[in-house]
Amino acid sequence: MATTLITGGTVVSSTGRAPADVLVDGETIRAVLEPGSTLLGHDLAASVDRVIDATGRYVIPGGIDAHTHMQLPFGGTFASDTFETGTRAAAWGGTTTIVDFAVQKTGERLQDGLAAWHELAAGECAVDYGFHQIVGGVDDDSLQAMRGLVDEGISSFKLFMAYPGVFYSDDAQILKAMQVSAETGLMTMMHAENGPAIDVIAEQLVRQGNTAPYFHGIARAWQMEEEATHRAIMLANYTQAPLYVVHVSAKQAVQQLAWARDQGQQVFGETCPQYLYLSLEEQLGARGSEWGDFEGAKWVCSTPLRSREEGHQDHMWQALRTNDIQMVSTDHCPFCMKDQKELGLSDFRAIPNGIGSIEHRMDLMYQGVVTGRITLERWVELTSTTPARMFGMHGRKGVIQPGADADIVLYDPNGHTSIGVERTHHMNMDHSAWEGFEIDGHVDTVMARGKVIVDDGQYLGSKGDGRFVKRGLSQYLA
Ligand SMILES: [Zn+2]
Ligand SMILES: [Zn+2]
Repeated sequence: MATTLITGGTVVSSTGRAPADVLVDGETIRAVLEPGSTLLGHDLAASVDRVIDATGRYVIPGGIDAHTHMQLPFGGTFASDTFETGTRAAAWGGTTTIVDFAVQKTGERLQDGLAAWHELAAGECAVDYGFHQIVGGVDDDSLQAMRGLVDEGISSFKLFMAYPGVFYSDDAQILKAMQVSAETGLMTMMHAENGPAIDVIAEQLVRQGNTAPYFHGIARAWQMEEEATHRAIMLANYTQAPLYVVHVSAKQAVQQLAWARDQGQQVFGETCPQYLYLSLEEQLGARGSEWGDFEGAKWVCSTPLRSREEGHQDHMWQALRTNDIQMVSTDHCPFCMKDQKELGLSDFRAIPNGIGSIEHRMDLMYQGVVTGRITLERWVELTSTTPARMFGMHGRKGVIQPGADADIVLYDPNGHTSIGVERTHHMNMDHSAWEGFEIDGHVDTVMARGKVIVDDGQYLGSKGDGRFVKRGLSQYLA
């Protein structure tokens, strides 16, 4: 197997940073050495197959995006990124592992949904991938199937308190699924919004003629997120299921999580770049020359973007510092404006829900380092190390240490990234939710299991490089 020495860089982990050389042997990290170390021979650089000069760059574990939806069926259409295009965009952005959601919709069999997802992804991915299981129909059959998920390397499942008739679980179903979670160690992931109440509010808004994308944000009020988050916490408290609340956007929901954690409950939260940077007023309420007040459709996602005036964005950054929120994923679920978002031109309820961000998560979060919102080490922890621990991949992923997969990113803090559909953009979309964002940093080189797949503005990988990752139980639980 080929050996590579990454030399001259600063290795950053969740706990510190230091100049170090990284020796890669085949697909695995063999050693992390002091610069110029003679421990493994007098001139290591002369004895390896390849030397990568990382001078001036941060050497970080490849990003792990634990919340993506390639090809998700939603509202009569499908998320526009396939496993091929979506994971290639991930690679461009320094993400070397994704965890996508296998789908069981209401009325379908869980096992069929999982098999279909394996089929969609196999041989298509640029980077490694795992699955969570969406359980959209809790019944005796799916509860039994859930007990077999751990053996399949799927250690987490997601329930929805929204989207009646598609993914929705009522409280009785949630309770039963959480009992299986407590019994098996499977992590319960929750989409926490009171869907039935939201649907009534949305219907009333549309009846009053309020059909623009902006009202998507009004309908999905923060009270609906806070209430559902609290209900999920109490059901998890009763059943003793570990709970991970996805895409938290309301500060009041964060307060619920913080409260439960202060009581000692095993409750965790994830937020996404859109809830840190974008808002109800600026994006959902946007007007553009092409789309008028339908411009906001680009940012229709659930949970929705929240009011900047109410302080949700600032509160979310604070929660990242205080660890009330433990990690940042994208909820990558892209739809084009043409033919897809357009479905909701006359009624925001018909706009497919989702934003594409998989390519920009590492950069957008690095911008938080630049602006002093988080530390360099916290950046690595939020985007790689905690996702690995939370979802049972620690040791193999999320760290630069001997024995780990050689998933390594060279990040240039002096580089620059201009985000825009005509510039850095590899996601299969006709617009960017991040158009015009300027990042003081750049993903220079991406290595996935020892293979350089992105270097110096070139894609060197191929589909099928990525393999299915069998995950173990969460390593984040006490
Ligand atoms: Zn969701
Ligand atoms: Zn999602």
